[in-house]
Amino acid sequence: MRLLSSGPRILPEPAASGTRRVVQKAPEGIALEDEANALLARMPKAEVHLHLEGTLAPETLWRMAQRNGVALPAGSLQELRAFYQFDGFDKFARLWRAMCACFRSEADYEQMVDGFVAECTRQHIRYVEAHFTPYNHQRYGIGARRALEVVTRRLEAAERAGGPVTRLILDISSESIPQGGPLTAELFEQEANPLVVAVGLGGPEVGFPRSAAAPYFDRIRRAGYAAVAHAGETEGPEHVRQAVQELGVRRVQHGVRASEDGGTLRMLAERNICCDVALTSNRCLKVYEDLSGHPLKRMIAAGVPVTLSTDDPPFFGTDLVREYALAHQLFGLSVGELWQLNLNGLRYGLAETPVRRRLMLEFNAAAETLGIG
Ligand SMILES: [Zn+2]
Repeated sequence: MRLLSSGPRILPEPAASGTRRVVQKAPEGIALEDEANALLARMPKAEVHLHLEGTLAPETLWRMAQRNGVALPAGSLQELRAFYQFDGFDKFARLWRAMCACFRSEADYEQMVDGFVAECTRQHIRYVEAHFTPYNHQRYGIGARRALEVVTRRLEAAERAGGPVTRLILDISSESIPQGGPLTAELFEQEANPLVVAVGLGGPEVGFPRSAAAPYFDRIRRAGYAAVAHAGETEGPEHVRQAVQELGVRRVQHGVRASEDGGTLRMLAERNICCDVALTSNRCLKVYEDLSGHPLKRMIAAGVPVTLSTDDPPFFGTDLVREYALAHQLFGLSVGELWQLNLNGLRYGLAETPVRRRLMLEFNAAAETLGIG
């Protein structure tokens, strides 16, 4: 169903991470009579392309750096906020590495998880598959294994307290495959962490073919896990084909540049491989300067399953409600159509089937109450 026609409109910036608001309310600045946006804010949501480290708000990052005596590429909080204007992937990656160096104690990891959980609660996000990159925490932080334990403990406690159901995708970063690949494969092989569902591939794409991670993906899939990978963001369809054919992925993060090749789009549709699209991330990292040229609708029309996500929300000044509102307003997707994308997060999610079914029943009940169908 289409509740409202689309039209160009300036969306408000989301509240700073950690700002508590009444959860039943539409985001500030969106008129309450705008039924579609109110529904998008209130509906229970799934998000399956989000980096746990990428949920750290600039204010939290600044305090963490100060506390731990770590230098950031900015001399003040104001300068740090200004640094979040990216001109491409390289500047984003520079900030990302500086951020990873700031995690020095268990409390730092707990603070990150607490901020993430508060944001999920504020936005009615009930299911998340969060990417987490163990090697970064071996290189900079408290050690990969210990970092994973702290994060797992905190996420389990949040779920027990009625918070979001979170599962973890452990990423290998493309720029440190020789070091991060074996370390991550050993973690998968030696542990039976109840939250970990898949291996992922993150980091830059340009100059880093997806196939380079294949030996480690093979090991981890043989250990019984699913695989996903970032591909088709800053590189073209060839990387998407590598992810599917050489890494054996069940989902692709981004995948938007598969749209440049009909054969690659068909392959995704035929194999029922879902692409986890992040609109604002694509605009901020200049994958598409102008979202009017974004291929989201073409991907859907080609039969490719799609979800909407934020990727790294404070880095891109967005949140999940805003991503849904953008898709509604820029591409004219109705609330009913967006609801189907939302359910794709559960259909193509990698958590245990009974967990996803329980959430689907919860989502269906909420849809009935809210009148979404
Ligand atoms: Zn991502």
